[in-house]
Amino acid sequence: MAHVAFFAAPGAGHVYPTLGIVAELVARGHRVSYASTADYSASVTGAGADFVGYETTMRAVFAGLPQFTGRDLVEVMHASLRETQAVLPVVRAAFDGDEPDVVVCDAAAPAWPGRLLAARWGVPAVQFWPNFAGNEHWSMARTYMRVNPLSRRMLTFLLGLHRLVARHGAGLTVRDLTRGGSVRANLVLLPRAFQVAGETFDSSFRFVGPCLGGRAFQGTWKRDRPERDLVLVSLGTGYNRRPEFFRACAEAFADPRWDVVMSIGGAVNPADLGELPPHIQVHRSVPQLEVLRDARLFVTHAGMGSVMEALDAGVPMLAVPQMAEQRANADRLVQLGLGRALDPDLVTAAAVRAAAEAVVDDPDVRTGVGRMQREIRSAGGAGAAADVIESAVRPPSSAPAEQIGDTP
Ligand code: UDP
Repeated sequence: MAHVAFFAAPGAGHVYPTLGIVAELVARGHRVSYASTADYSASVTGAGADFVGYETTMRAVFAGLPQFTGRDLVEVMHASLRETQAVLPVVRAAFDGDEPDVVVCDAAAPAWPGRLLAARWGVPAVQFWPNFAGNEHWSMARTYMRVNPLSRRMLTFLLGLHRLVARHGAGLTVRDLTRGGSVRANLVLLPRAFQVAGETFDSSFRFVGPCLGGRAFQGTWKRDRPERDLVLVSLGTGYNRRPEFFRACAEAFADPRWDVVMSIGGAVNPADLGELPPHIQVHRSVPQLEVLRDARLFVTHAGMGSVMEALDAGVPMLAVPQMAEQRANADRLVQLGLGRALDPDLVTAAAVRAAAEAVVDDPDVRTGVGRMQREIRSAGGAGAAADVIESAVRPPSSAPAEQIGDTP
C-alpha cells in the first residue's frame, strides 16, 4: 500500500473538494498524510488522513485584497513565494524519514511546497484543480483578471520565482511550477462539460468531477418545515463581509413559500441582520452538503466548490459573485442554463425575489441541472481520482509511465 501526501492551499474551497479522495484512498488501504493549517486538522483527520501542520500568512493577504483583480493576483503570487520559503523547511522536516510515494498537489500557488518536495524526493506528482483548469487556449488569469505581464511587480515576482526554483527545484523548471509541467496527471474536480473550452484539454487532464466525501466534522442538520421551499443563502468562506446582502435576502424570502438557511461566515454580526422571522435561520457555518440535499434553490457566491456541490445535489443557483474567479463560474453556469446571476452591486430584495422565483419556476433550468448532474455521475468522482493516483504510484507495465489520462 502507498503513502500519499496531499498539499492544498489552506482554504475550505481547496481542502474540502479533496476530502472524498482522501477517504477513498484510506478505504483502499493507503496511508494519507495531509499538509495543512490547524483549522483544517479536524476535516482531514475526519477523512482518515494524518495531519501535518504548518502556519500560513496567506489569510491576512487575501483579507487585504477585497476584489482579487489582476494586480491583486500578482500580490498573492508574491505572498505565495514568501509562504513557500517559510513552509518548505517545516514540511520537509515533518516528512523526514517518512517520505511519501506520491504527492497530490493543488494547482494553486500556495501549494508549491508540495511540487518542490515531490521533485526533491524523486516521487511522482499528481496535480488537482478545484477550480477551472487552464491551458494555452483558456485561463482564468488571462480571461478574467487581465494580469499585466510586464508590470514591475510581475517582473520582481518572476525574478523571485526563478531564485526559488534554482534553490529548491531539484530539476523542476519555473514552467513546471506555474504551468503544471512534469506532473503525472491532472485531476480536474469538475465534469468536462462544465469546464470552459473543455474539449481543448488533452488526455493528461482527467475530469473526474466533484469528489464529495462525508463531512462528519460539520455535524448534522435537520429541516423544520419540509412543506416549504428550502433556500440556502451563502457567500462562502472568503468574500462574505456583506451584511446588506444578507439583509436583502431576508427581505426577499419573507414570504411563507420559503424556508431559509443562511450561512453568513465569520465576518458579519448576526445582530446586524435585525429581527428575523422564525423561518429564516442564521448560522456562521452549516453542513452544506446536508442542507443542499433538501434545497430547492441555492443563492450563492458561486465559489466552484459550492457550484459543484449544488449541481451534484441537483439544485439550481442564483449566483451573486463577489470576485473575478466567482464571476467566471457564474458566467459559466448562466451560459449552461443552470441558473441566473445578479450583479452584487445591484442586489435589492426585489431583484433577489424576482430572480429566485424565475430560477425555481423555470423548467429549462431544471432540465439543464439534471443533465449536469448526470455528467457528474458519469465522471467517476473519488473512485476515478483514486485510480489515477494509484496508477501514478505504479504505472501499469504495458503503458508508458509519463502520463495517464482519459481521451479528450
Ligand atoms: N461550506 C460549508 N458550510 C458553510 C459554507 C461553506 O460546508 O456554511 C463549504 C462548502 O460546502 C464548500 C466550501 O466550504 O465546500 C467553500 O468553497 P467554495 O469554493 O464554494 O467557496 P470559498 O469559500 O472558497 O469562496
